[in-house]
Amino acid sequence: MISLVHSPKYAKHQTENHPENPGRLEVIMNSLQKGGLLDKLDVTPPKPANEEDILRVHTIEYLKHLKSFTEQGGGYLDFDTYASPQSYEIALLAAGGAIKASELVLEQCDFAYSLARPPGHHATKDRPMGFCLINNLAVAIKYMKEKHGLQKFFILDFDAHYGNGTSEIFYHDPQVLYISIHQDPRTIFPGKGFIEESGAGDGKGFNLNIPMSPGSKTSDYIYILKKILEPVCSQFQADFYFLDVGFDGHREDPLSSLLLDDDFYPWVASLMQKITPKMTLILEGGYSHEGMGQSNLKMIKVLMDKSINEKKWQPPGELQVKDETKMTFKQIQDTFSPFFTF
Ligand SMILES: [Zn+2]
Repeated sequence: MISLVHSPKYAKHQTENHPENPGRLEVIMNSLQKGGLLDKLDVTPPKPANEEDILRVHTIEYLKHLKSFTEQGGGYLDFDTYASPQSYEIALLAAGGAIKASELVLEQCDFAYSLARPPGHHATKDRPMGFCLINNLAVAIKYMKEKHGLQKFFILDFDAHYGNGTSEIFYHDPQVLYISIHQDPRTIFPGKGFIEESGAGDGKGFNLNIPMSPGSKTSDYIYILKKILEPVCSQFQADFYFLDVGFDGHREDPLSSLLLDDDFYPWVASLMQKITPKMTLILEGGYSHEGMGQSNLKMIKVLMDKSINEKKWQPPGELQVKDETKMTFKQIQDTFSPFFTF
């Protein structure tokens, strides 16, 4: 069974003239409706996360600041992160959506997808960043650990931007394996996410970055993810899997220089399906409405139909892979050889 965790209330996080706007979720829901999938999906409303849930990740000072900032009318928290008067409440709802989607997967669903905003992966313990207020995914992980006793978590984040917040929160934690594939940080926000940022202390080796050069295509992503994901997952043996989905690597997207097409998303979903029968999806970025609609439709179709084969989405003929992508793979292989074999 597949569930969407979604609420029309997410539109109350109002961000006018901003790429991260309420239209993003509308477009996805409309596309699922038109594509005939919405009737077949279970749509579950989220409950807001409570303070205790948030404080497992964020500092009390930050949470108080966010609350009073929005109560006073909101505005820009930094140069690009906006909060409206209701954004505090809606950010709690988005974090609660991630928790709900995780619990659904634990209890009954094969896949559950938290279709929420504001996104979360840039938010650090003590600051908002990159359109993100609360780190929804991190809140869900800490909750699943504390309330359900799960120990080992796997995350694949394929948003075009590095999830610096998620990475930082779990940087010393050997029980959360964070793999992020994103545009080369020398060329895009937040300027972090290099291969050598591989975790610290006990967490060394559990933060695996795959920086992709601008212009990378679906074939480059397939080449590198195919080599890394399956072997790493079988060596790590997670209790719980997250796919942190961002659609801003799409060729139509205005915020990145990556050239992924619609077929990347069903392909990566089917690869993950081979690895695990159960997985929670959390929405991050994606700013081309057309790209988001189609990519989500195709991705969810795959999750609903287990007979679909990943090979169907591979480009015909031999994969055209950039030399830079091959070099990146070699560097990752060398850096991570003490921790994983692939
Ligand atoms: Zn992004």
